[in-house]
Amino acid sequence: MKLAFINLGCPKNVVDLEIILGIIKPHVEFSDSPENADVTLVNTCAFIDSAKEQAIDYILNIARLKREHPSHQLWVSGCLPQRYQNDLCREIPEIDACLTSTDPKITAQQLLTLIKKPSGPQQPRQRLTLKHYAYLEISKGCSNRCAYCAIPLIKGNHISRLPEEILDEAEQLVQSGAKELILVAQDTTFYGHELGAGTNLAGLLTGLNRIGQLRWIRLLYTHPAHWNDELIECIAELDKVVNYIDLPIQHINNRILQQMGRNVTRKQIATLLQKLRRRIPDLALRTSLIAGYPGETEKEFQELFDFINHFKFERLGVFTYSHEEDTRAYQLPDSVRRETKIRRQEKIMHRQAEINRQFNESLIGKTVTVLIDESENGISAGRTQWDAPEIDNSVILYQPLSPGTLLDVQVTSADYHDLIGRAAKT
Ligand code: SF4
Repeated sequence: MKLAFINLGCPKNVVDLEIILGIIKPHVEFSDSPENADVTLVNTCAFIDSAKEQAIDYILNIARLKREHPSHQLWVSGCLPQRYQNDLCREIPEIDACLTSTDPKITAQQLLTLIKKPSGPQQPRQRLTLKHYAYLEISKGCSNRCAYCAIPLIKGNHISRLPEEILDEAEQLVQSGAKELILVAQDTTFYGHELGAGTNLAGLLTGLNRIGQLRWIRLLYTHPAHWNDELIECIAELDKVVNYIDLPIQHINNRILQQMGRNVTRKQIATLLQKLRRRIPDLALRTSLIAGYPGETEKEFQELFDFINHFKFERLGVFTYSHEEDTRAYQLPDSVRRETKIRRQEKIMHRQAEINRQFNESLIGKTVTVLIDESENGISAGRTQWDAPEIDNSVILYQPLSPGTLLDVQVTSADYHDLIGRAAKT
């Protein structure tokens, strides 16, 4: 790929561009003019009005070139997209990518993603899931430092994918038959933090919600420390975002939360959960917990159990603490005996099974929308909006139905894990 670049603004911009070009150099050929290049990167300044006008002029010049050579790519970085990303993309649709990070190393990584992106409409992906749902990765790595977790050591710091790249992939997945997109990352609520003002999970969900044919958007792996009111409002308002939130709290005791490095207190978690319940009716909250964290006393465990018993998550999983090398928690003695960890895990799961059964039974006689996952020998299995694939409950129907069908189902009976129903009369 041949890349031309235009640098505008102060010496700080020069240094940033030098860092960016130094990182991407092994992967591109530099061209001295946009006319001879496949892509032009305009590194902008928006310090004062005249600088903004100059940047816009350069961008419009390349936009004109693009009209003659539609395959030419126009990428914009620096202060202008950092300040006016949404306006810029709306006003100048010829722009193919707005790079909004203030960190040149991150911008370079994003450029590398764009440079390595295969051309053509289809991003190759050999899907392993059923055709009607797909996972959509929105960022890589994790910048949290939970004391028990080795993932940041393995995967590195959080890097968000560009919104336009995610939306492109989402469109492709929907065109190939996906009706449900499941957003994943190590921490989905951290999405966009390093991309600059205006780029966040709420904006991304809003963009995804506009995709025709797409029916459900599901959010996994959120972090209680990174929620805000804008995101809650957005989930409450967007019709395709299902009323299901995966919000691993891990524990509720303040001392343990602090030891775990979760950057959140019991009070903050409780406030967030109440807000979510209040603002999003019919919400199913999934959480996951760790039993037997180093030093967890019987009293601290009981506090966790009482919280679960009182709050009643609709979906819940418990892991026993695993002592992982190179983590901060590894420096602590793995003091809770294995049998104790398992006893605590089982105590919570036993109680949760009862909560689950009550929730399922509360649906008997009601009509719920179900997405059919599979069908064999006249028996079909699907999921409600409150169930993620492979993790949560199923709805069983004694009738053949095509996978991918969405239909209203009347619930006729329920047990600890599953619902039984039949197609509702219309
Ligand atoms: S537990 Fe999740 S949020 Fe915490 S460091 Fe690991 S991957 Fe990141």
